Amino acid sequence: LILRRGLAGGAPPAPPPFDHQPRPYAGISGDEILRKRKTFLGPSLFYYYQNPLNIVEGKMQYLYDENGKRYLDCFAGIVTVSCGHCHPDVVNAVVEQTKLLQHTTTIYLHHAIVEFAEALASKMPGNLKVVYFVNSGTEANELAMMMARLYTGNLSMIALRNAYHGGSAGTIGLTALHTWKYPIPQGEIHHVMDPNPYRGAFGSDAVRYAKEVEDHIAYGTPGRVAGFIAETFQGVGGAVELAPGYLKLVYDKVRNAGGVCIADEVQSGFGRTGSHYWGFQTQDVIPDIVTMAKGIGNGLPLGAVVTTPEIAQVMSQKIQFNTFGGNPVCSAGGLAVLNVLDKEKRQAHCADVGSHLIERLKSLQQKHEIIGDVRGRGLMLGVELVTDRKEKTPAKAETAVLFEKLKDLGVLVGKGGLHGNVFRIKPPMCFTKADADFVVDAMDYAMSGM
Ligand code: PLP
Repeated sequence: LILRRGLAGGAPPAPPPFDHQPRPYAGISGDEILRKRKTFLGPSLFYYYQNPLNIVEGKMQYLYDENGKRYLDCFAGIVTVSCGHCHPDVVNAVVEQTKLLQHTTTIYLHHAIVEFAEALASKMPGNLKVVYFVNSGTEANELAMMMARLYTGNLSMIALRNAYHGGSAGTIGLTALHTWKYPIPQGEIHHVMDPNPYRGAFGSDAVRYAKEVEDHIAYGTPGRVAGFIAETFQGVGGAVELAPGYLKLVYDKVRNAGGVCIADEVQSGFGRTGSHYWGFQTQDVIPDIVTMAKGIGNGLPLGAVVTTPEIAQVMSQKIQFNTFGGNPVCSAGGLAVLNVLDKEKRQAHCADVGSHLIERLKSLQQKHEIIGDVRGRGLMLGVELVTDRKEKTPAKAETAVLFEKLKDLGVLVGKGGLHGNVFRIKPPMCFTKADADFVVDAMDYAMSGM
């Protein structure tokens, strides 16, 4: 046990056993890909790895590089791989549909689209029964915002600071992290305080945050709003769970001002939080519009907006058409995902493994000063690193070093937060307790050497 914990003799932790041999890779090398990427793909601010891995194969919670080295994927692609990399049921559904018919749109009938919509609607509470399919989270939020404005006849949207809702001209206005912003007009979007229990000015006091929303509506809008959008667990913002009770209070205020409430479930949906199928249920609210993507398709390009028949009615005044949204291949894959999550009882599994992991991370926090906060639920966790616990100074440089060290140890985590000082642990939902131990042991080992 001591050896597994990795510290006694300074030995790194042993990875958990996993029965899979990656196929030999005969493609071009990672160095060559990087060279070609620099020539043929447009530049972007490299946010993640300085030397990205050449990942050639994935199997459930593991990824393999060109040399066959195995990595535990604690970031599930980009929180996309809900069931597991190349889960056989999802692969099979996609392959079979691809052989039969790759593409039609909603101008024709296709059984996979309605079967998937029906299955998705069955997962929703209340009267959230009408589904629109799109290709991404950005598109889902763009459509949700348009619906809110059309339905209410109002313009003002309210979003949270530290939120990420997408990168299109409209949704970038909702996003409130300077690193993702572009200098384009972002009219009639108001950002209210982030009810972040660790960093927020009011700690976990939902009442004070909600009062600030009320003030914002009174002073910053015509008093009537189109809608309010929030992730219950802010993802890109650093795995922040909103202060308990916040959404209930704010939804009331927004509805009183004529607005609709939108829950962005792009990261927190599909049972990942363990306690509920959707993140908003952890706050005991029912939104008017729910947006989703990422885990919905286990990595397929797919997104959806689910709303009530009453709100959807406004779309009959407009053309809502999307060339690829709801295509048969993604619909078949999405339906397979829902079936896998149910069949394999992944929500309960997330609760069980997540509580083990969070307990171990909290013990690690007692050992390493650099861990300022451990938070989250199920397999939607954040570990925030600081150089000074009292001041909560973001450990930006240290996080970057640890991130690379973890990679070398075979552990891939996500990074997030405005300062990039939060490890985001959101693995495929097949992640095991042995995997959880391996991550914590690897962190322990990496942090001990700092
Ligand atoms: N909403 C949330 C909460 C997200 O995390 C993301 C992406 O990270 C988006 C929306 C945008 O989704 P996409 O990248 O699929 O456009």
